[in-house]
Amino acid sequence: MFTQEAAERYSRNILLKEVGVAGQLKLSKGRVLIIGAGGLGSAAAMYLAAAGVGVIGIADGDAVELSNLQRQIIHSADVIGKPKAESARETLKALNPEIRIAAINAVIGTENAAEIIKEYDFVIDGTDNFPAKYLINDVCVAAGKPFSHAGVIQFSGQTMTYVPGSPCFRCVFPEPPKDGAVPNCREAGVLGVVPGIIGAVQAAEAIKYLLKIGSLLTGRLLIFDALNMSFRKAPVPRSGACVCGGVPTDLNDRAYGGAKGCGTVCAAANRNASVCGNNAN
Ligand SMILES: [Zn+2]
Repeated sequence: MFTQEAAERYSRNILLKEVGVAGQLKLSKGRVLIIGAGGLGSAAAMYLAAAGVGVIGIADGDAVELSNLQRQIIHSADVIGKPKAESARETLKALNPEIRIAAINAVIGTENAAEIIKEYDFVIDGTDNFPAKYLINDVCVAAGKPFSHAGVIQFSGQTMTYVPGSPCFRCVFPEPPKDGAVPNCREAGVLGVVPGIIGAVQAAEAIKYLLKIGSLLTGRLLIFDALNMSFRKAPVPRSGACVCGGVPTDLNDRAYGGAKGCGTVCAAANRNASVCGNNAN
């Protein structure tokens, strides 16, 4: 059961009939891995820590730079140069000392992805490059691990959730775009609140998954446009000829072009009018 302090800390969760004491205990036993301590990961991690998710892994191989602070709200000016995973761990620990934070100061690649992911119930993709996104998809699909995909660029973002049996990221975008075909945030910019909004959606999906409440963003791609303040959901059919349908994928570094990448996925969505334009609801 809870300490007096925990009952007070989580009182607004516990008041919700869909959560209650039983739900809060489920959250305290939940384990969520966040890959990327950037803009998406910052928002997702803060809300998951605040909600009392018992174990949060946060993986990132980079160090904090001044240009990160416009959107990566988990870091602050006094930690520039520090590993992002460690900076994130300290911020989350200060927010909620009752939970466990695993700082993984490494780039997730083919050699370590499966080993790291298997320790967790749910994975949040907060990465900023295509090779990592395809790798996370393929490793999670192979392991039957639920995950939240997201991508952001400029004023737009997109996200969808995978659980075993639902369409995966490759069902929507079977192959990565060619190198340089799609600009990344470093080249094209991104409004800081966009990853904040989408990262918060990812946290909500993880919480709902752990609590087994509501309906997840499976089989639908949520597309957000901050300029028009529109949220659309495009249905995503499951592709038969896909890694999620048992078509094998080569899990080697060459297939993913290394861990450092070429762009964000949202821009790929914008290329694909049949997904983003026609079927929106
Ligand atoms: Zn698929």
